[in-house]
Amino acid sequence: MSTTTWTCKCGQVALSVSLEGGTRVVCYCNSCRGFATRLGASDILDECGGCDLYQVAPEAAQFLRGADKVAWTKMTDRGPARWFTTCCQTPLANTLPTPAIPFLTLQSAYLSKKDMLPPIEIRVLRKFANGRVSASKYGQGRLLRDFAMRSLKSRFSGGWRRNPLFDDRGKPIATNVPLPD
Ligand SMILES: [Zn+2]
Ligand SMILES: [Zn+2]
Repeated sequence: MSTTTWTCKCGQVALSVSLEGGTRVVCYCNSCRGFATRLGASDILDECGGCDLYQVAPEAAQFLRGADKVAWTKMTDRGPARWFTTCCQTPLANTLPTPAIPFLTLQSAYLSKKDMLPPIEIRVLRKFANGRVSASKYGQGRLLRDFAMRSLKSRFSGGWRRNPLFDDRGKPIATNVPLPD
């Protein structure tokens, strides 16, 4: 099974990530853009302010090192938990408040072997882009379908319990903090 590695800017945090069954999506929403920008990582955004994301089953990603160097924040009350590294403020991933919904969306920019990722065929929330983004091959429907399929597998196999950002009791492994200034 082919794997890649997610590594923060300074190298103290790293996760192995399986390349099986993930979905790649570029999101143009203000929160994704704002999160990267506030962390000083606007260089990862595309020319229209889109954020390249890789959605995987939680069990597909596991820490190699640095699990004690992460924290999470929220851009909006209803939005996802947005995780970043505390060593160098690299945007890491989005999750939901509970691991019971197996949702893990990694920041693609810091994955090695990017040529092995699926091509970008899904672009969502294009109306918030900084410029005109033409329709992608697939839309939100494809994203939701892939998520539903992965979630079912993860729930049936019990893989959802191995979410690297939650502990055995289903609590986040780090605290909720305000975004660094
Ligand atoms: Zn770091
Ligand atoms: Zn977004």
